[in-house]
Amino acid sequence: MTQEDSLTNGAVLTIEHGTVRYGDSRALDDVTCAFRPGQFVAVLGENGSGKTTLLKALLGLVPLDSGEVSILGTPLGQFKDWPDIAYVPQRLLSAGAVPVSVQETVQSAFVTRLGKSRVSRGQRDQRTSEALRAVGLEERRRDRLDSLSGGQQRRVLLAGALAKDPQVFMLDEPTAGVDADSQERMASIFRDLRDQGRTIILVTHELGSFTALASRIIVMQRGKVAYDGPPPTPDQLRDPVWHHSSDLHPPAGPAPIVEG
Ligand code: ADP
Repeated sequence: MTQEDSLTNGAVLTIEHGTVRYGDSRALDDVTCAFRPGQFVAVLGENGSGKTTLLKALLGLVPLDSGEVSILGTPLGQFKDWPDIAYVPQRLLSAGAVPVSVQETVQSAFVTRLGKSRVSRGQRDQRTSEALRAVGLEERRRDRLDSLSGGQQRRVLLAGALAKDPQVFMLDEPTAGVDADSQERMASIFRDLRDQGRTIILVTHELGSFTALASRIIVMQRGKVAYDGPPPTPDQLRDPVWHHSSDLHPPAGPAPIVEG
């Protein structure tokens, strides 16, 4: 088996020697990695290190300058099964521009790039209700999206991803502005999905409630993969590469007092 075969073997997503340039600078610089079923992967790194560009390159939302991406074994250019992939972007592109309801936002996740849905209307309505219930926003389904807080709007986007029932979830900072209880709820949803064999790729600057879920961590630094492996040991945390991942460090201050 060649090195290339072992990379792609059983992988749901691979990027090989992926480079993305914006003008003269390389936002992604010769990145090679593969993502497998049942993996919860956290992509960490300081601002501007290339985390979002990595997600966008995997989705074909930014063109590669060089290198290759394949999804579920198919080269990106020929891939058509987009319902199998859910992407939750960092920001809503058009929040407030059009009066759209919470329910309509979730339902829009079913429309593929070809403008068709592969589920019936009944299935769609049922999955929409279930997904909104899962993120704790079912009572808000008829409300206008722009009447919700930023954190609630992120939960609506997440509901859209859940309703699609995909193989792969790609989440860009899904917990920003989301309250602690809702983060716990999200973590429990993604623990179940991971255990069912789904792949979850989470871009974040703060793992928060997801800390215990990530079996693999990728740290980006200036467009390159600076670390790719299991969560760091206390010894590894001394390496400057982890400097910005403050929530992986043990809490500062005296040890908690244990009664007994
Ligand atoms: P991160 O997600 O880690 O904050 P990004 O992937 O968003 O980093 O950005 C990586 C680098 O690419 C940064 O230097 C950023 O300024 C640059 N960049 C990102 N998007 C664009 C764009 N559309 N045009 C020009 N430069 C960009």
